[in-house]
Amino acid sequence: MRAGAVFPGKRKVEIVSLDEPEITSPHEVKLRMLEVGVCGTDREICSFRHGTPPEGYEFLVLGHESVGEVVETGSGVSRVRPGDLAVPMVRHSCPDPGCVACRSGRQDFCYSGNFRERGIKQLHGFMTGFVVDDEHYIHPVPGELREVAVLVEPLTIAEKALIQINAIQRRLPWGSTSNPTDHRNRAVVLGAGPVGLLGAMALVNAGFETYVYSREEEQNPRSDVANAIGAKYVSSHATTIRQLASLAGNIDVVYEAAGASQTSFELLEALGTDGVFVLTGVPRHGEPISIDADRLAHNLVLKNQVILGTVNAGPDAFEAAIRDLGVFYRRWPDALRALITRRYPIERFCEPIFERSGIKNIIVLDGKSGC
Ligand SMILES: [Zn+2]
Ligand SMILES: [Zn+2]
Repeated sequence: MRAGAVFPGKRKVEIVSLDEPEITSPHEVKLRMLEVGVCGTDREICSFRHGTPPEGYEFLVLGHESVGEVVETGSGVSRVRPGDLAVPMVRHSCPDPGCVACRSGRQDFCYSGNFRERGIKQLHGFMTGFVVDDEHYIHPVPGELREVAVLVEPLTIAEKALIQINAIQRRLPWGSTSNPTDHRNRAVVLGAGPVGLLGAMALVNAGFETYVYSREEEQNPRSDVANAIGAKYVSSHATTIRQLASLAGNIDVVYEAAGASQTSFELLEALGTDGVFVLTGVPRHGEPISIDADRLAHNLVLKNQVILGTVNAGPDAFEAAIRDLGVFYRRWPDALRALITRRYPIERFCEPIFERSGIKNIIVLDGKSGC
């Protein structure tokens, strides 16, 4: 079967040929891969900034955002059946017996750093015909979500953030709202990429009055999605962060999904009383920026603020993402579909990685790469 792969040593990105994987233990599941989403992580791996092939290989098969169809199960599998639609998890537990996170099935909180990740670190990804994995890394998805299920994995980032925001705001006995007149929390999403827009959907759905703050002009496909779901799109060209803060009022949550440190720290200064600031983007390390540290520390203490970084996602966030994607699909079918800009056959998998156009681009596998 064919696969889209990167050779970090030779600095090449090309189609490779692989043997079809077989089930070798009772708890394994075989998936026929249907679609794989492309994101900034793939772009970085294909620019050789990170990405590690599995032991014994000089290439790494790409693809971590995916959906497949179960075609075969081991004798002990109970979570899925052949014919089910399913989304596999990206991160696999580390082998360290002392890592309580991985030993608890929460490799997203791994202490050792020796976890492996599909399509990123020491495990082949999903941009190929078939994949075999242990059932506890496989999440079944309702069949009616077929056309959007590839968005489950990027949505898990927001779901893990929301689970943590809820845990933190349980410190507020009045239900975490700053706005007693309509009991709605205010959230600002920084960045209007797929992670930002899916985060905005999750926040609107959770009852937040949501602002999406991004660098695109007021009229563009990203702002259309934000406005269609009932969020307010605010362009950084037209509105400063100070103006945004006076527009929004007390900002209870900032969901950062841009990986831009300068803007993040400017927005941190605008975080409201009892607010939570969640960072999900990984900035490229550039020139140091200057920040007013005294003022930030002053605000953190006197306003009871929390800054939180979050990466990857656990099984609870996958389940929440699958549930909420169904809610979004019924509530905003056109806006959700509009996140997917184009679908490409595997022969052209390099185009969406390097050309970078639209919101989210997808590689269609549909079993054809199994030939
Ligand atoms: Zn991704
Ligand atoms: Zn671990």
